[in-house]
Amino acid sequence: MYLCYVDESGTPDIPGNTSHYVLAGLSIPVWHWRDAEAQIYTIKQRYSLQDGEIHSGWLTRKYIEQNKIPNFSRLDYSQRRYEVERYRKTDLLNLQKSHKHNLYKQTKKNYKHTENYIHLTYGERISFLEEIARIIGNWGFARLFAECVDKIHFDPKRIKQSVDEQAFEQIVSRFEQFLKSINTFGEQNTYGLLVHDNNETVAKKHTDLMKTFHTKGTLFTQVNYLIETPLFVSSELTSMVQLADVCAYALRRYLENKEERLFDHIFKRADRKGDVVVGVRHFTNSSCSCKICTSHRIK
Ligand SMILES: [Zn+2]
Repeated sequence: MYLCYVDESGTPDIPGNTSHYVLAGLSIPVWHWRDAEAQIYTIKQRYSLQDGEIHSGWLTRKYIEQNKIPNFSRLDYSQRRYEVERYRKTDLLNLQKSHKHNLYKQTKKNYKHTENYIHLTYGERISFLEEIARIIGNWGFARLFAECVDKIHFDPKRIKQSVDEQAFEQIVSRFEQFLKSINTFGEQNTYGLLVHDNNETVAKKHTDLMKTFHTKGTLFTQVNYLIETPLFVSSELTSMVQLADVCAYALRRYLENKEERLFDHIFKRADRKGDVVVGVRHFTNSSCSCKICTSHRIK
């Protein structure tokens, strides 16, 4: 049995505030689950993040208050935490007093999302993500599936699907093809299941789509080896689904900003047929020469 952890990066809205929308699925065989989980936990422990969720978007922000605290990087973790919390409390009190309600609400929300990471400098947070990406890259048993949509080239009227529906159909089809290919020689069938980061709007949509795929197939394939509708879990509590967040984030940052630090690790796991990447696609114009498009073409 294979589990495929799914998460997204960027917004599917057109135009939205990102040029790309990425849906990524990281598949691992269940017999590697315990080891994989333990390895991630060890890295988290080293950065004192064992209780924290890996959320790439929040981890990679610049926390300006860290720069305002003298010698921040020389303080130990608890001193850093104390200093940042003190700064944040004062800041929130001042905003409240000045009646800037919207700014107060937004700042409070930002602080909440980043509270698990404030004891780490920017450089340490990036190193943490890099270690996670490197370990995923080394997992010979893992496979990465992803649809990366460049929304400038997406015409919903012509395609008759929304960005996120197309992405989900692609992930399902490629994961199914992968399961089909490993089932060719086996005596007993191996099945796959999608595990998705919980999000109410996505949950309903993907469940309905999956039911349709079970009866009618996708545009590309019958669905025989993927079972059930996706299971939805809380990413705060389930470490492995956080890895899908790292993969989706790394793909989007590579395509939008040419950042390769995380991408080069996780892209090693893209499902391949021989030398050709079949698991990850960049939906854009045909002249794109990014690493995904070049390795997607048959040479
Ligand atoms: Zn490309």
